Amino acid sequence: MAAFNYLLLEMDCPACGQATMLRAQTHMASDYEGDERGRFMDREYRLGEPMWWFPKDTPDYPDWMTWGTGQVADIVYEVCPACCPLCDSEVYAVVKFKSTTPLLVVANGLECDRNAAATRWEGR
Ligand SMILES: [Zn+2]
Repeated sequence: MAAFNYLLLEMDCPACGQATMLRAQTHMASDYEGDERGRFMDREYRLGEPMWWFPKDTPDYPDWMTWGTGQVADIVYEVCPACCPLCDSEVYAVVKFKSTTPLLVVANGLECDRNAAATRWEGR
């Protein structure tokens, strides 16, 4: 799935420690399809903001998280890559989702540790 969205995360950069706004990539609720408001991709969301997606009563709804293992769950975690606008470091934030809503950042770190974070958090 090549489509993605962005999460605007106010947090301290794991590399430089400065408070910043990370624009992290998420594959949740992303698709080249869309509705009358536009495609379900390239959109920016803040924590607590439900992402635009197919209605719950449609066959496409469960696809909001069919990335990776293809499983469907109510609570999921995704390791979202980002680049710090202050120090230019590649970092990641682990975001907890409840259905199509990103809730909070539960962990973060440097790009070199992203695969380990994915192993730990994704598919839980
Ligand atoms: Zn930084």
